[in-house]
Amino acid sequence: MRFAAVILAAGSGARAGGAPKQWRALAGRPVLRWSAEALASAGAERLVVVVPPSDVEQARVVLEGLIAVVVAGGAERTDSARAGLDALADEPPAAVLIHDAARPFVTRRHVEALLDALASADGAVPALPVADTLKRDSAAGLATAPREGLLRAQTPQAFRYAPIRDAFSRLEPGATATDDAAVLEQAGGRVIAIPGDPRLMKLTYPEDFAMAEALAGAARIVRVGQGYDVHRFGPGDAVWLCGVRIPHTQGLVGHSDADAGLHALTDAILGAAGEGDIGQHFPPSDPRWEGASSDRFLTHALDMLRAKGGILLHADVTLICEAPKIGPHRDAMRTRLGELLGLPLDRVSVKATTTEGLGFTGRGEGLAAQAIVSAESPR
Ligand code: MG
Repeated sequence: MRFAAVILAAGSGARAGGAPKQWRALAGRPVLRWSAEALASAGAERLVVVVPPSDVEQARVVLEGLIAVVVAGGAERTDSARAGLDALADEPPAAVLIHDAARPFVTRRHVEALLDALASADGAVPALPVADTLKRDSAAGLATAPREGLLRAQTPQAFRYAPIRDAFSRLEPGATATDDAAVLEQAGGRVIAIPGDPRLMKLTYPEDFAMAEALAGAARIVRVGQGYDVHRFGPGDAVWLCGVRIPHTQGLVGHSDADAGLHALTDAILGAAGEGDIGQHFPPSDPRWEGASSDRFLTHALDMLRAKGGILLHADVTLICEAPKIGPHRDAMRTRLGELLGLPLDRVSVKATTTEGLGFTGRGEGLAAQAIVSAESPR
């Protein structure tokens, strides 16, 4: 079934402490981005994201690359949900999923089960039984409350679009609800439960983030990328290596600044991201890259890795030449690479070797660089 999705991210999230939880990073990606990517990849034809009016621009940045409409929400959850539903009214979808941004682990399987359930209802909700004993606390002490028949409702919740929009439009001014199914229930619509999933947990308290990080980690893999580059020596009085200018009796010949260290590293990162090689992204035939600082090649590769949810973990570069001597510049190179890569010094390595006078590097005709990186990315 074709469907649209509304993601509610308009809450202040005060209980999670610090920044509102939709903007907090979870394994390197904002929580809102997790939810939006999950629903987009589950097949949502349209995505509406509802945020506080002051956060519309921030949401557009976080959602870059996804086809999503950002809408300003209202004071209450019901106001925000109504705004999200209204944004779909010009081309009403058959079905709509309404989801809390703070539940990042929604999958296609959840979505399909919910849409299937709409065959026999106006609304469907993933819900879990209550496993803990329920207590009511009062001045007189604790009393045990019956839990029979009680369910914990999660999101996303799926609805036929027409009845849920109608239910919201008939809601009394000032009426509130803690989920969207409640609005349809009050309007007399039929809502059914499907089995919920602990992984649809809502990030509410600070400790929830620790558990979510563990879940997110289980869904990630480590990738390794390697790169190799050579440049020929030519006339000049300095070489660029690993982003550092080193005075020398010769220069390196190349279309850009000929920084073989940064080129090898750029290819290693592109390798880890599965995004081709430096020549594809920055063809030597393109006059824009003539004399270019190789910083920008590296930054571009890193952006591509990050756009896929990847995080660079570590980088190791080996420079192969008889001269210039690398040792005196090694710390400056590591510091510069750390700045460019956003890594602490102990995750950046620069090594040097000669080839004992053998081959083109031994004869001093040119210089070679190898790089290897590790990165973590979604499975
Ligand atoms: Mg090169």
